[in-house]
Amino acid sequence: SNQIKIGIVGYGNLGRGTVEAIKQCPDMELVAIFTRRTPDSISVNEPNVKVLHISKAVDYKDEIDVMILCGGSATDLPEQGPDFAQLFNTIDSYDTHAKIPEYFNSVDRAAKESGKTSIISVGWDPGLFSINRLMAEAILPNGENYTFWGKGVSQGHSDAVRRVEGVRGAVQYTVPIEDAVEKVRSGVNPELSTAEKHLRVCYVVAEDGYDQAKIEQDIVTMPNYFADYKTEVNFITEEELKENHSQLPHGGFVIRGGKTGSENKQIIEFSLNLESNPEFTASVLVAYARAAYRLNKEGQVGAKTVYEVAPVYLSPKSAEELRRDLL
Ligand code: NDP
Repeated sequence: SNQIKIGIVGYGNLGRGTVEAIKQCPDMELVAIFTRRTPDSISVNEPNVKVLHISKAVDYKDEIDVMILCGGSATDLPEQGPDFAQLFNTIDSYDTHAKIPEYFNSVDRAAKESGKTSIISVGWDPGLFSINRLMAEAILPNGENYTFWGKGVSQGHSDAVRRVEGVRGAVQYTVPIEDAVEKVRSGVNPELSTAEKHLRVCYVVAEDGYDQAKIEQDIVTMPNYFADYKTEVNFITEEELKENHSQLPHGGFVIRGGKTGSENKQIIEFSLNLESNPEFTASVLVAYARAAYRLNKEGQVGAKTVYEVAPVYLSPKSAEELRRDLL
């Protein structure tokens, strides 16, 4: 077939989302999922999809066009990114902001050597939000960018709450402060710290017999995570946690307020409202997999970021069809 043949490396939230996203793309075919765990221990709700040990990936060198790397940014991707770029075109969602230049270089070296194309740090932030910040700034040089995140589950902050003594289960939502959003939308370009833009809302299940006031105090005073924020702590039951808080919603806004001429206020806004962060992020990865495949066919090898990939490469339509759709 002339479908683009896709492999998935790592089967967590993003890996599962990628299986779903590929199903919505008739020009793509999922060949296999590769995992570090025992393949038999993993169940995939797709009858025709193979789950294989990661060590078998090399055997698929000529059968997979693009590997979508769904590992975590902290420890998986720094190894898997350059490793897989030696054999495959790759896409990943590396999001450790401070280390992106270093990561880019290590993947770029590997991809140039193998003649492959790797698009790194794809998703919504980094990703779609980055593109929108860049566009807004290029168009309105006299202005200010603002990014608000949420309402959404922050995995890192949820983990931090779970580590507090006496906590059995917890979820943390990052919530944009409505007043701050409205101020930015009005175009006054206020000075706002991250803490002035976001509220942290925790839902916590306490261990039996633990003092809730003590748990709350331990959370709201936690340095780096909560101490500098307005933090709300709600105690709920284990059933409520499962019933109402097991999805991973997210989203946010990128807003730029700028001025042209001398007086005219111009506001650019891009927003996302996501019921499932991993399914959405995976959908972005899959669109960029199409781009990696095409860029490689054109001989554009090495690492790229979303900044360097023109929109025409993302669409399943041809450039000619897209020109007809331009208006
Ligand atoms: P997960 O923790 O769900 O999965 C990460 C890896 O852990 C998997 O690839 C899998 O590897 C392993 N794993 C998953 N479940 C289990 C388990 N039950 N037991 C043991 N190992 C497991 O992470 P997510 O999929 O939620 O997120 C991955 C990354 O995506 C994040 O680190 C973040 O960097 C990025 N991200 C980026 C976004 C963006 O906008 N740019 C948005 C959202 C996420 P294996 O199968 O090999 O064991």
